[in-house]
Amino acid sequence: MVANNHGSTHRVAVIGSGFGGLAAARSLARVEVEVTLISRTSHHLFQPLLYQVATGVLSEGEIAPSTRDVLRRQRNAHVVLGKVVDIDLARRQVYSRTVLGTTVTPYDSLVVAAGAGQSYFGNPQFAEFAPGMKTIDDALELRGRIFGAFELAELAPDERERERLMTFVVVGAGPTGVEMAGQIAELAHRTLVGAFRDLDTRTARILLVDGAEHVLPMFAPSLSLAAEAQLRDIGVTLHLGSRVVDVSARQVTLVGPDGAAETLPSGTCIWAAGVEASPLARLLAEQTGASLDRAGRIAVGADLTLPGHPEVYVVGDMMSLDALPGVAQVAIQGGRHAAASIRTRLDAPGAPVAPFRYRNKGSMATISRFHAVAEMGRVRLRGPAAWGIWLGVHLAYLVGFGNRAAAVFHWTVSFLGRRRSQRTSSYQQVFGRLALELAGREVAARARGEVAAGDAGDDAQPAAS
Ligand SMILES: Cc1cc2nc3c(=O)[nH]c(=O)nc-3n(C[C@H](O)[C@H](O)[C@H](O)COP(=O)(O)OP(=O)(O)OC[C@H]3O[C@@H](n4cnc5c(N)ncnc54)[C@H](O)[C@@H]3O)c2cc1C
Repeated sequence: MVANNHGSTHRVAVIGSGFGGLAAARSLARVEVEVTLISRTSHHLFQPLLYQVATGVLSEGEIAPSTRDVLRRQRNAHVVLGKVVDIDLARRQVYSRTVLGTTVTPYDSLVVAAGAGQSYFGNPQFAEFAPGMKTIDDALELRGRIFGAFELAELAPDERERERLMTFVVVGAGPTGVEMAGQIAELAHRTLVGAFRDLDTRTARILLVDGAEHVLPMFAPSLSLAAEAQLRDIGVTLHLGSRVVDVSARQVTLVGPDGAAETLPSGTCIWAAGVEASPLARLLAEQTGASLDRAGRIAVGADLTLPGHPEVYVVGDMMSLDALPGVAQVAIQGGRHAAASIRTRLDAPGAPVAPFRYRNKGSMATISRFHAVAEMGRVRLRGPAAWGIWLGVHLAYLVGFGNRAAAVFHWTVSFLGRRRSQRTSSYQQVFGRLALELAGREVAARARGEVAAGDAGDDAQPAAS
């Protein structure tokens, strides 16, 4: 075990390099404390733009800058790579692990911002066939599957298989699902048109499935309806009031509003529904008696601390307070609030700290190029005006990470032109899954005595070269 103890000043450990953790760490830059940021990834991740990495608009580096780079000039900050596996609130120690061993980080104050993962509503077996959209790994995997589906469709031996490969199912009609479906439709109907000699990409079917009756249910009904009209316009088929009950390598099964089951042969399924808080929430709940909600988020006090532990703050997607939504601004403002409280307590020990007050700056979702919906208080916008605001907000954010120029260039290429400059997928991403599928079919055929051992072709070899 490595003890990670850098000095005798007040030690603040921060778990997570996402929106909440990074905001907390950065807000402590001018405070006389020693900050140790522990994260299982070496980057910060701008999750709202993951769908653009998955669909070839942006590169992963543009939305996931290295945390060390971001904190390079912050002299009181240390970055530790590792997955936190335990937190001992009595001893005030965090245990994080890598393949090389365990690191112990003692703290005086702790900010926990480990976010949330994908929930498959009790069906974790769906994950293999329907990747979620939470990490850079997810986005790159999906990029390989989406572009790979078009490649494989051109090579398909018959029309049925081609139709299957050209059917994309997106589960979940919140902002992520809507954005994903919209981008795949743009790929099929605009970007890739003419790129294949034996495939008309416009025959692709993009299905957006949700149990709710409307897309974007968190927006005003007029904006949900506008988004639905725009989605239909660009070629997305909506399956609302429908639940996905099964996903396999070759098909997705839905139960519609009338209770009837429908099986859709599909080559690519994307899961954009449901979140589940980091398991660290349960670990903290067990030690403090704080309750967990249905999504596994831990209840915090008005000042974002845990019962009996005024030195432990939980912020962002893994905390539950006043039904605040799991959005970036809640995490950023929570991280800043935790940092301000730590500073107040250091300046005036025993002084009361202010409760957390969330300032809702509004929400927005893009549907296709030049089309978005945005809601800021009573102001509701749709179409190009909303899209312009979306662009401005995202550019302003990316400034902080020095990635603005590259993003502007790639957005210009994609939105004004027709191209996607970040389409690279690895052999493994395109063919690895197919190879496994073929190998599986071969094993089954061999069991039926239809194939002799050793008959498998090249494609059945998972890519190793
Ligand atoms: C695809 C997608 C699109 C979204 N779009 C929007 C949007 O348009 N607008 C909006 O406001 N919000 C959006 N959100 C939500 C927003 O991204 C989250 O609310 C926000 O990221 C929450 O911040 P956080 O700090 O709580 O968690 P995260 O940003 O998820 O960060 C969690 C951090 O903890 C680390 N971590 C997790 N477990 C451990 C562990 N055991 N040990 C060490 N480190 C750990 C992770 O590596 C990560 O660095 C979107 C989310 C997704 C997934």
